Amino acid sequence: MRKNIVAGNWKMNTTLPEGIKLAEEVNAALAGEAPKCDVVICVPFTHLASINNVIDKNKLGLGAENCADHRSGAYTGEVSAPMVASTGATYVILGHSERRQYYGETSETLREKVRLALDNNLTPIFCIGEVLEQREDGSYFEVVKAQLEEGLFNLDAEEFGKIVIAYEPVWAIGTGKTATDDQAQEIHAFIRKTIADKYGAEVADNTSILYGGSCKPSNAAQLFAKPDVDGGLIGGAALEAASFMGIVNAF
Ligand code: 13P
Repeated sequence: MRKNIVAGNWKMNTTLPEGIKLAEEVNAALAGEAPKCDVVICVPFTHLASINNVIDKNKLGLGAENCADHRSGAYTGEVSAPMVASTGATYVILGHSERRQYYGETSETLREKVRLALDNNLTPIFCIGEVLEQREDGSYFEVVKAQLEEGLFNLDAEEFGKIVIAYEPVWAIGTGKTATDDQAQEIHAFIRKTIADKYGAEVADNTSILYGGSCKPSNAAQLFAKPDVDGGLIGGAALEAASFMGIVNAF
């Protein structure tokens, strides 16, 4: 059966000391009774190795927010999947809408990143989602389907089984405007059906599909109660241990 996962995406926030402190706080909050979901923090590259040293990896997973589309070489400033894996991280967010929008990431480069992540035993948290205009004109089903097909459907079923999907409507990210639980359920069910049509019902049933976009302690329980919402990818509310744990404990 698929896992429930709550993953934090810290984005470009926290200095190294601030990040270590936040990771320690989340780690301490997880010391007691195990939550009903896997918990992951995805942090800036600069923080990975240090945070890996201060958390209990049995309770708290660690991930990067991106990786390069090349294995190594003359790509100044890039950070490769093998480098990420060598810090102890086991997850990587790929295809976040901010990367697609501001850094021109295409499905073609994302296919390379996914391949390199899998080759290095990193679990990709692969982000898809429509912009407001596409939500309003009803084309969001096609948009999300195309992102899945172009970014992931080159994988075989075994490889696809290692992917976590994050549905993040761009209009809900950092805006305070959350998709309703019914809106999330509708598109998550569609995503699962699209996966089932390609890889079969079993693979689709085992795929974790997270919701992201202004997810908070106050709305998480309602979202997570939906049958096809398997957790969240959390931005702003992951920057404070108490609010992040409020979402973790919504399960
Ligand atoms: P917010 O939770 O800040 O809306 O961000 C969501 C997100 O982009 C997580 O990847």
